[in-house]
Amino acid sequence: MNNIAILCSGGDVSGMNPALKHFVEYSLQKDLTPYFVYDGYEGLIDNNIKKATYKDVAGIINRGGTKIGSARSQRFMQKEYREIAKKNLNMLNIDMLIVLGGDGSFRGLDIFYKESGIKFCGIPSTIDNDISSTEYCLGVDSALNIIKTSIDSIRDTASSFSRAFVIETMGRDCGFLALVSALTSGAELCLVPEKEYDLKSLEESFKEQIKNGRRYFIAVVAEGIKDESQDIANWFEEKIGIESRVSVLGHIQRGGNPTIYDRLMAYRFINNAIDALLEGKEESIICYTKDGFKYKGIDEVVNTPFVLDPKLLRFLKNI
Ligand code: ADP
Repeated sequence: MNNIAILCSGGDVSGMNPALKHFVEYSLQKDLTPYFVYDGYEGLIDNNIKKATYKDVAGIINRGGTKIGSARSQRFMQKEYREIAKKNLNMLNIDMLIVLGGDGSFRGLDIFYKESGIKFCGIPSTIDNDISSTEYCLGVDSALNIIKTSIDSIRDTASSFSRAFVIETMGRDCGFLALVSALTSGAELCLVPEKEYDLKSLEESFKEQIKNGRRYFIAVVAEGIKDESQDIANWFEEKIGIESRVSVLGHIQRGGNPTIYDRLMAYRFINNAIDALLEGKEESIICYTKDGFKYKGIDEVVNTPFVLDPKLLRFLKNI
C-alpha cells in the first residue's frame, strides 16, 4: 500500500474537516494508507505525522476549523527545516502530500517540491477567494453565509435606531467577500480595494435619500480599502448627518458549521486531489472553473496575479 498525507496550512476555513473525513475514506477506498500531519508545516518539521483512521474523523463533518490544526511556520521558510521535513516524510515512506491552504502555503510547497521531489496536490482553501486560476476556494460559501446572517441581524438594529452601519469584512487585499455580501444583502454602499471611490460624489444622493424617508444605511467595506472603517463611519456622521457605528466581523467569518456547498466541494476537491496524485501528476493545484475541476501547475497558480472578476465588479455601479 502507498502512503499519502494531508495537512492544513495558513488560515483555517470551514470545510477543512469535511475534507479530512473524505480524505480518509477515499484514500482507504483507493488502497492508500492515509496520514495526518498536525499543525501545518510545523508538523512536517516536528514529525507530528500520524496514521489516520475512520475513528479520527468520526463526528467532525459539521465542525468548522480543522481537527488536525493549522499553522504558519517561519521555520519552513528555511531550507534546513525543509530538509528535516523531507527526511520525516521519507522515513514514513510518504511520497504523496495534499495541502489545504492559500497562495502563501502553495509558494512554500512549490519550493519544497523542487527540493524534495515529494509529489503534492494543493486544494485552494481560503475565505478570501483570492487565488488566481480558481473561481472557488474551500470555505468561501460558509464565510459568505456567516456574513449574510450578521448583516441581516445588523439591519434589524440599524432600521430600529436610524443609523448607518459600516460592516467590515475580511479578505486582505481582495474585495470578494465585501462585494458579494453587499450585493446579496442589498447594501447601500460597498467599498473594495479593487475600485477607486469618491465619497464626496455620494453625499448629495445620500442626503436626499434621508430627506425622502430613508432611516438607515448599510455599508459593507473590505478590510483592505485605503481608509479605516471608522473614517467611513465618521463621514456618515459629519457629511450625511446620520449616527453611525462600525462593526468589524473579524474571525467569526472563518468559523462555524460548514455549509452544504462547502461540504460537497470538500469531497469533490479531495477526490480530484487523490486522483491527480494516483494519475502521476506531481505538482498540481485543483482549480474549480466554469468547465469544472482542472489541474493546474503550481507555477501558473502562484505566479499569476489574482484579479477580481470584472463582471462581478461591474455590479458595484448599481449599489
Ligand atoms: P496562506 O496559505 O493562507 O496564504 P501564509 O501566506 O501565511 O498563508 O503562508 C502559510 C505558510 O506557508 C507560511 O507560514 C510558511 O510556512 C509557508 N510559506 C509561505 N511562503 C513560503 C516560502 N516562500 N518559502 C517557504 N515556505 C513558505
